[in-house]
Amino acid sequence: MKSTADQDAVSWIVTDHTRTDAIKQWPCLYVVQLDGTMGPRAKTIESAVDFSQEVPMPRMTLLACCIVAGSIAVHSQSRGPAATVVYEGGRVIIGDGSAPIEGGSFVVQNGRITAVGRKDAVTVPAGAARVDLTGKTVMPGMIDVHVHIGYEGYTSWGAGNYTPQNVLDHLQREAFYGVVATQSVGSSPTDPSIQFQRDQAAGKVPPASRFFFMPGMAPPNGGPDAVLLKGTTALHAVNEVSTAEQARAAVRAMAEKNIKSVKIWVDDRRGTYPKMTPEVYTAIIDEAHTHRMLVHAHATTLPDQKAVVRAGVDVLVHTVQSEKLDDEYLALLRDKKPYWTTVIGLGDRTEVCDNDPFVDQALPAKVVATIRATVEPRPLAPSCGPRSPNAATREEMLAYNFPKMIAAGARLVLGTDAGIHAGYTFGSADHHEIARWVQFGLTPSDAIVAATERPAEVMGITDLGTLAVGKSAYFVVLNANPLDDIRNTRQIASVYLRGAGLDRDALLAKWKKTKTSP
Ligand SMILES: [Zn+2]
Repeated sequence: MKSTADQDAVSWIVTDHTRTDAIKQWPCLYVVQLDGTMGPRAKTIESAVDFSQEVPMPRMTLLACCIVAGSIAVHSQSRGPAATVVYEGGRVIIGDGSAPIEGGSFVVQNGRITAVGRKDAVTVPAGAARVDLTGKTVMPGMIDVHVHIGYEGYTSWGAGNYTPQNVLDHLQREAFYGVVATQSVGSSPTDPSIQFQRDQAAGKVPPASRFFFMPGMAPPNGGPDAVLLKGTTALHAVNEVSTAEQARAAVRAMAEKNIKSVKIWVDDRRGTYPKMTPEVYTAIIDEAHTHRMLVHAHATTLPDQKAVVRAGVDVLVHTVQSEKLDDEYLALLRDKKPYWTTVIGLGDRTEVCDNDPFVDQALPAKVVATIRATVEPRPLAPSCGPRSPNAATREEMLAYNFPKMIAAGARLVLGTDAGIHAGYTFGSADHHEIARWVQFGLTPSDAIVAATERPAEVMGITDLGTLAVGKSAYFVVLNANPLDDIRNTRQIASVYLRGAGLDRDALLAKWKKTKTSP
C-alpha cells in the first residue's frame, strides 16, 4: 500500500458491509480504484471478453477481500509489483525449446517482460528494483489445457460444490503449483463460467490461474465418465445432441457467445454408453471450424482415435492404453498432426501413496490419511493398495505408444484431467504428468515446451507461454534445474502472476484452516 488514502479506502471497504450490490456476485471482493471509488462492475463489460490477451486492470491499485460473515479481513494474496523490476543472475528457460540463458536477466515493467538476455547484455532501466536469482532457474508458468474444475471439495465431490468460490480455490491451487492458465473442458456450465472470466479479467478475483473453459457435447446419457456425469448432469454442463442439426445449432449458439472451443466424447465405455455417431461429430467439427472454433475429442481406443483424427478434430484427449498403435494410425497422425493431451496420470497410482510433501501439502490431512488407508482398487478413485493386475500391461502400452505418437508428429500439450478425485488434483497433477512424459523418453526441454509455449498456442493465449519480450510476466522460480531432472519443477521457490509474487504461504495457511483439516 502506497498511501494513507489507500489504507483508508481498504478500511472503509472492509468495514462497510452495506454496499451489498457489489458483493452479490463476489461476496468477498471489492475493487478499489485510485480515487477510492468502487471498480467497474462486470455489467460494464457488455460484450464477450477476448481472453487471448490479458485485459489491463483499469486504474486499479489494490484488491481488498473481506469475508462478510465473519468480518475477517484477508490480505490480498499477491504482493503488489513494483513498476519496473529486473530479475537477474538466474538460469532462464524461455519455454520455446531454445537453450537456457545461463546467468540470465529479464526486465518486467508493469507486468510485461520488456527485455531478456544474458545479464551483461540487458540494460537495467533507471530506478528499477532488482531481484537476485543467482542459483535459481526461471521457467514460464505452465498451462493446463484439460481439467474439470469446480466439483472437488476434498471431503465431498459434486455439483453442490460448484460455486465461484470453489472455482477460484481450484485456480489458486493451480497457481500455487506454477500453473498460470487452466482450462476446464466440457464440464463447466457456460454462463457462470463466462461471468467468472469477466470478473477475473476485470481484476475482481484474487490472484489465481487464469480461467478458461469450453462446453461439452455428447449424446443423451453419454459423455463424461461415471463420476463426472453426476456433476455435469446436475448442472446441465454438457449439451446433449442426437442429430447433426442439433449439433450444428449448439455449436452456433456457442460461437455467438464467443466461445473458442468445444469438447466431444466419442466413447461407448465398453458398450455401456451411447456413442456419438460419425454423422454428429462430423457436423460438430465442420460447424466449429466454420466459426474458427477448435474441437477437443475424448477418445480412448485405437479405432475411436483414428475416427476422430480422420474427421479432423484439433485436440485429441487421452492416450490409447489397451492396444499398440498401428501403421495406419501413425500415417494418419503424420498427415493431420493433431494437438494431443495425454491425461495419463488419472489412471496412475496416486502420488499420495508416496508420502511426498509436495503433493500432500495442499491437501487436508484427513484426505491424505483416507487415501493412504484405502487399499481396494476402485475405478476413478484413489487408493494405495497393491497395484492392479492391469497396471503392468497399461504401462507397457503407454511406453510403446507415447514415443510413437510423438515421432508421428502429434503435438503434445499438457492436460491432466485433474478434478475427478483428490489423489490427482489441481496443480500437483501437472508435475506428475510432465514427469511421466520424460519417463517415456521425452527430453525435459520438450516437456517444458509442451507445458508452456504449445498450450498457449492451442488455447490462443498470446501473452503467455514463454519468457519473451512482450509477454506477460507469469513465471516460476525454481531452486533446481528441471533440464537436469524434470522432477525439479517441484522445487518451487516462488510463482509470479503478471509480475506479482503469489503469496503461496497464505494459500497454504488457508487450505490448512479449512474445516476439512483436522
Ligand atoms: Zn477429462
